[in-house]
Amino acid sequence: MDLGIKGKKAIVCAASKGLGKGCATALAREGAILTICARGKEALEATADEIGKLTGTRPTAVACDVTTEDGRKALLAACPDPDILINNAGGPPPGDFRNFSLEDWRKAVEANMLSPIALIHATVYKMMDRGFGRILNITSASVRAPIPTLELSNGARCGLTGAVAALARKTVHRNVTINAILPGPFETDRLRGTTQKMAEARGASFESIHNERKKEVPAQRFGTTDEFGATAAFLCSAHAGYITGQNLLIDGGSFPGTT
Ligand code: NAP
Repeated sequence: MDLGIKGKKAIVCAASKGLGKGCATALAREGAILTICARGKEALEATADEIGKLTGTRPTAVACDVTTEDGRKALLAACPDPDILINNAGGPPPGDFRNFSLEDWRKAVEANMLSPIALIHATVYKMMDRGFGRILNITSASVRAPIPTLELSNGARCGLTGAVAALARKTVHRNVTINAILPGPFETDRLRGTTQKMAEARGASFESIHNERKKEVPAQRFGTTDEFGATAAFLCSAHAGYITGQNLLIDGGSFPGTT
């Protein structure tokens, strides 16, 4: 299927690795003209090279922290009028409500709620003027069912979801959609990092915990970044103009946890 986005300008945030990279690669395969960001320049440039080799068009790479005002300014300077915006950033750390300070909450809200809102605010009205726009927020399965160890994430991501729910219904008549993908367990550095911590805490090997976590998923495996990217690319496609305000859970059947 031709997704109809060849030549569309796309910003994919936090895209040197993992889910963001999966989205960037899928959009680039469809001929979108990409601007990608991440904080670490080396991995970001390597990803831009990789996508360039794969598709013949190298993305513009902006090394910045998208959770800061300066970072977002740099990103928008490189691509002032995106047709597609995929919001993403690292997730807040795990922990317990008792130990979180107000500053911890402020950081989580800044990174996973206010940063996407700022980028949406800077781009959505111009998308409406042009009559095409696709905005996708990468949130988490925690929006559907809170994850006990990720209270900062639960709060900030539900805040973002609520903040754009009405807006998504106000933009769609101008062919601008706003949706979210809620990932369950996907095989990325972040997932491998949390597995490593669990293994250390339980004095077990990485492999044993990795396999145990896989078995908890009804699909008996983790999602791949290619699968994630393909879903994102469809939601950003010309065919998806009637899908807005949706929160698509992709979790291999994990919710509601009946197995
Ligand atoms: P990942 O593999 O660790 O990749 C994260 C990417 O984001 C890297 O490219 C990283 O590069 C970049 N990044 C992080 N913070 C950034 C910032 N402040 N500014 C710019 N770039 C930034 O993580 P992932 O698994 O793809 O996760 C992406 C998001 O989905 C996270 O919010 C995560 O919590 C959420 N999520 C993931 C899963 C999963 O199973 N993988 C499940 C639920 C939710 P730099 O570090 O160089 O900046």
